[in-house]
Amino acid sequence: MPTHATIEVPSFGEVKVPTGLFINNEWVESQSGETFSTVNPATGKPFLDFAHASKEDVDAAVKSSRKAFKTTWGDNVTAVERGALLDKLADLLERDAAKIGALESLNSGKGVRIAREFDVGDSIATLRYYAGLADKLHGQTLNHYAKEKFVYTIHQPIGVCGQIIPWNYPLQMWAWKVGPALAAGCTVVMKPSELTPLTALVMCDLAKEAGIPAGVINTLPGLGATTGDAISRHPDIDKIAFTGSVATGRRISVAAAESNLKKVTLELGGKSPSLVFDSADVEEAASWIAMGIWFNSGQDCCASSRVYVQEGIYDKFIAALKSRAEACKIGQPSDEATSFGPLISETQRDKVLNYIESGKQEGASIITGGRKWPESNGGYWVEPTILADTHIGMKCVQEEIFGPVIVTSKFKTEEEAVELANNTIYGLAASIFSNDARQQTRLAASIDAGTIWLNQYGILHPGVPFGGFKHSGIGRELGTYGMEAYQQVKAVHQNL
Ligand code: NAD
Repeated sequence: MPTHATIEVPSFGEVKVPTGLFINNEWVESQSGETFSTVNPATGKPFLDFAHASKEDVDAAVKSSRKAFKTTWGDNVTAVERGALLDKLADLLERDAAKIGALESLNSGKGVRIAREFDVGDSIATLRYYAGLADKLHGQTLNHYAKEKFVYTIHQPIGVCGQIIPWNYPLQMWAWKVGPALAAGCTVVMKPSELTPLTALVMCDLAKEAGIPAGVINTLPGLGATTGDAISRHPDIDKIAFTGSVATGRRISVAAAESNLKKVTLELGGKSPSLVFDSADVEEAASWIAMGIWFNSGQDCCASSRVYVQEGIYDKFIAALKSRAEACKIGQPSDEATSFGPLISETQRDKVLNYIESGKQEGASIITGGRKWPESNGGYWVEPTILADTHIGMKCVQEEIFGPVIVTSKFKTEEEAVELANNTIYGLAASIFSNDARQQTRLAASIDAGTIWLNQYGILHPGVPFGGFKHSGIGRELGTYGMEAYQQVKAVHQNL
């Protein structure tokens, strides 16, 4: 199978894109000759075929990454040089933002403006943040002994890192992984999702153009159970950084432990609650929560998928949320005005519809939505949906739907609200809407989540740590914590 294909991209005409494996700065075919197919989520029609990386390809990529780590990267280049290369990569992404945004939109179904402004924009910001941070994390000097004896610590890159990412924010997840790993001095073997491999591959050409040495970023499109598993089990990979579902995170942890006890960081699912108190500004809360659940059509690990509303404002809040659901700009991904595109796949669409159906069976009522978008044609849209009269025993309240469905119910007291919020295996994010600062502070401390938003939702910044409590993950991405996750600390005891 050729390593490139030509596709028609709205506003850009014919564009030649990579579809092969990127190993040692070269485009190659899979050694097995196998391929896999992707589908355009807006039409349900075939999109592109990609090379499927085999176990032998994983070996070749790991060898190349190990060699780069020992010779041209890691401690062989200064942190300033690594930062400069990341900065150059950010420049190139900025240069190609419109085209890469259009490719992301085509592969993932998200609106083209959102892909360009949010997905590409945040990816540039993340690369720039880590370009700047590369030379700013230091060790310590400790003086616990006599004066001629002291200890210093050095931060060293962990080594070769396997990185496995999902389909909901393909480019952004790529930047969240590659930025801190390269800044820290690690080399990477990246596996994008089999549903959305395109932009991770396009970034390989930019990395080469930026001057990042061969082997620093190897990229292997492929399926989870084969390519992903081979990466997780590889004896010469030192760490796995994974974003995706809890079930896969668990499998990867086992594979990593059984092979060579590689280090693992996991960013997993969520079922994030919003608590809206009587004192809140109802219209403002409804706007933030609507954005929290319907951004990216609900395919968001920190989606505001549960809302608990104090009884005094419940009816008013539900009416305000309903009006925002009905105002979502549902449309074709290529339309600049679209903010609500199709779900990624037929499987995902059916899974979401099944959750809505199970909610109805268990007694929930539908305030709005609940169906396929009538203009879907072959695409995978599900309408923005509000389920009311839900309770904690329901499947749609406990499990991550990963679609545009928010479940709602009422509470009376703050204690009850905290109990409802924490009644889940997840702990990724939560929001509190209240104009009582003491209440906000109490709740921020007592809710089990890695991120708490007060009177807002969904705000992220490359400098702010992100990650989960409970089953939502292990470790943190972004900020200094995100880069430290790619380093190990060595204590050196001096005796002068
Ligand atoms: P997924 O777990 O099915 O797949 C994620 C990645 O893992 C893909 O690249 C897939 O090919 C790979 N994979 C699958 N099986 C594997 C295996 N046995 N070994 C190694 N790799 C394997 O998840 P998804 O459906 O792509 O993404 C949706 C999930 O990701 C949701 O649960 C969502 O909450 C979560 N997510 C979390 C965050 C976060 O930062 N916490 C961000 C985005 C998505």
